[in-house]
Amino acid sequence: MKKVSLLFTLIFCFQLSVSFGQKDPVVENIVKEATENSQLEKLAHELMDVIGPRLVGSPQMQQAHEWAVAKYKGWNIMAKNEKWGEWRGWERGISHIDMVAPRVKSLEGMQLAWSPGTGGKTVTADVIILPDLADSVAFQKWLPTAKGKFVMISMNQPTGRPDYNWEEFGTKESIEKMKKDRDAQTEAWANRVKKTGYNGRTLPVALEKAGAAGIVMSYWSKGFGANKIFGAYTKKVPTVDISLEDYGLLYRLAESGHTPKISVRADAKETGVAQTFNTIGEIKGTEKPNEYVILSAHFDSWDGGTGATDNGTGTIVMMEAMRILKKVYPNPKRTILVGHWGSEEQGLNGSRAFVEDHPEIVQNIQALFNQDNGTGRVVSLQGQGFVNAYDYLGRWLSKVPENIKAPIDTRFPGAPGGGGSDFASFVAAGAPAFSLSSLGWSYGTYTWHTNRDTYDKIVFDDVRSNAILAAIMAYQASEDPAKTSRERIVMPLDSKGVPGTWPEQRKPTRRGGMD
Ligand SMILES: [Zn+2]
Repeated sequence: MKKVSLLFTLIFCFQLSVSFGQKDPVVENIVKEATENSQLEKLAHELMDVIGPRLVGSPQMQQAHEWAVAKYKGWNIMAKNEKWGEWRGWERGISHIDMVAPRVKSLEGMQLAWSPGTGGKTVTADVIILPDLADSVAFQKWLPTAKGKFVMISMNQPTGRPDYNWEEFGTKESIEKMKKDRDAQTEAWANRVKKTGYNGRTLPVALEKAGAAGIVMSYWSKGFGANKIFGAYTKKVPTVDISLEDYGLLYRLAESGHTPKISVRADAKETGVAQTFNTIGEIKGTEKPNEYVILSAHFDSWDGGTGATDNGTGTIVMMEAMRILKKVYPNPKRTILVGHWGSEEQGLNGSRAFVEDHPEIVQNIQALFNQDNGTGRVVSLQGQGFVNAYDYLGRWLSKVPENIKAPIDTRFPGAPGGGGSDFASFVAAGAPAFSLSSLGWSYGTYTWHTNRDTYDKIVFDDVRSNAILAAIMAYQASEDPAKTSRERIVMPLDSKGVPGTWPEQRKPTRRGGMD
């Protein structure tokens, strides 16, 4: 991560010394407005707590788009929702899961996205474990047994303690033993599923066809209390995810012959075909209105939590940066756009559609800055394979206050990102698009796509730094007398000696979630 060329270092140091001591009133005002009049907490509350998660095709996604446009209008920023496709419309209702035998306990769990509901009823049935059978023939013979039962299809985790907790308190021997046992169990479970002749996607459907009352699973995210919540594959019966603790309880009871029974009430509404949008805001350029600086963050989320750090924080960073820019830099040289993309989670669909629909903008992007990996302060910026990125990004960064700039590890020219978030949609089209990469804050374990991705995980001081950074970079990109170079690196050879290729522009899915 630290291959900064000597030349770059020299230029960078030179620029630092030049800018040292000079005060740029716009930069000062950006910092002042962000610090003294921050709207981040209010925006986060309205988006995460009031509107909630933003699953593609859900009414909440639509509400969020309307909310964003109204916010921009309130700040005198032009904004609109631009349609790019259609998706299966689905609205999450309540999930109530209770163990009713051999004793009563309310369980922590919820239906997956797009799960069928229970039709307004509470379904009570025995819980059984996916059996370990010799092969697919034996499994077909067993399948009728699933009729009327809830079937558990995930492995029972041998420990509910995250590895970091073991490493803090366990002995070397006990940790090794736990990991060895867990690896063996994980392999055995994968094998158990494989022997059915189905996979994680087709097994729930086979069980449903055999008349199962529902699918019970647990996708532990390897942290206390955190499960990842994705989409269901069943079409008629609910698929529910249950916390590690409660899943383990049911599993052990079923295994020891105590025949646990659960009651499930899941409400879900199919809402037909939903239109899908990007929210685009604009501060028109005065000298070069046909050149664009874009602030970028996907707007949609998974819906186990409220999408607070994926990507509520990226969203409010860009909204706040736009608000501040409009206030302290209302007449930019170049046009400053903000893109709040739909359906990133299903494959960068909103941004890929924008790239396809707006070649005139994409050809004239001065720079794009995307943020989408959690609540942390930005600690990394790489050149995405644009040969001269060190020059302009270095120059713009030199204007950023030292406390925000210092932790940022830069790497130039870097390599073009082929995916991961929406900047990649633009890089593929050859536009200088960059990722403002954040410090982790246990993102992958605790918040990314989990039921724990909620308001309380937001670290507002870090988000505030990021809003300042995004606003200053947009301001600098807008002011730069030169248009940014798009010259690309010669892609390095791969391990077989074949020259690498620049990522290809890919088509969005414009109609999703429907058969
Ligand atoms: Zn994301």
